[in-house]
Amino acid sequence: MLVDSHCHLNFPDFVPDLDVVIDRAREQGVGVMQTICTKISEFEQVHAVASKYDNIWCSVGIHPHSAGEESVTEAELTAFTQRPKVIGIGETGLDYYYEHSPRDAQQKSFLTHIAVGRATGLPLIIHTRDADDDTIRIIADEMKKGKFPALIHCFSSGVKLAEAMLELGLYISFSGIVTFKKAEELREVAKIVPLDRILVETDAPYLAPMPMRGQRNEPAYTRHTAAFIAELKGVPEKEFARITTDNFFTLFSKATRPKGI
Ligand SMILES: [Zn+2]
Ligand SMILES: [Zn+2]
Repeated sequence: MLVDSHCHLNFPDFVPDLDVVIDRAREQGVGVMQTICTKISEFEQVHAVASKYDNIWCSVGIHPHSAGEESVTEAELTAFTQRPKVIGIGETGLDYYYEHSPRDAQQKSFLTHIAVGRATGLPLIIHTRDADDDTIRIIADEMKKGKFPALIHCFSSGVKLAEAMLELGLYISFSGIVTFKKAEELREVAKIVPLDRILVETDAPYLAPMPMRGQRNEPAYTRHTAAFIAELKGVPEKEFARITTDNFFTLFSKATRPKGI
């Protein structure tokens, strides 16, 4: 079985056929999914999807893109994490590539999410783009104040960021980008991430892996990315599926593992 650790199933792209999408994922062995919150104002939608399906979990948080338009207090965020289906905090982090929100607002929001991660023990789902130095600095500083579980989702930077994150105890999740022709540097990163720290995701509806690139992405396609990385690392596909599934349930320990898997 595989887990799609990060997808956005509340997005309008899935309104017409979500049941079919979930069935297709199951048929492809993607038995568990985490649908990710990007805005507090959409949390109830995200939560409704997770509540409807027993194999779907969710997160709560504000994407760095929306950190300028929305804010949340530690107390409010903590209250959302008490819902049984909420297993992670985010996605949060820094995106200086698009910079849809001012950098100081992104950092402030990131710090709020970290504080709640530390207090609740739920893992942080971190999005970081073109912000390596600030990401390393903030996580290193915050870890000194008290450890918190975390992963870098849809990793898209280089070996330097990966090594710094691994050193700080973080997990790293790869999306379909790793299958793209020009992603040579990312493949080098995938080779050095130890098997016990690696997760896979789609980030659907975005970033469909080869050979579906350009189409709407969906959880079933986790399989292509997983098969690709398994081959890259010289691990049998089944073994890689087992390892990444174990990693998911180790990190997101609030999620219940389906029986017999
Ligand atoms: Zn993201
Ligand atoms: Zn995302």
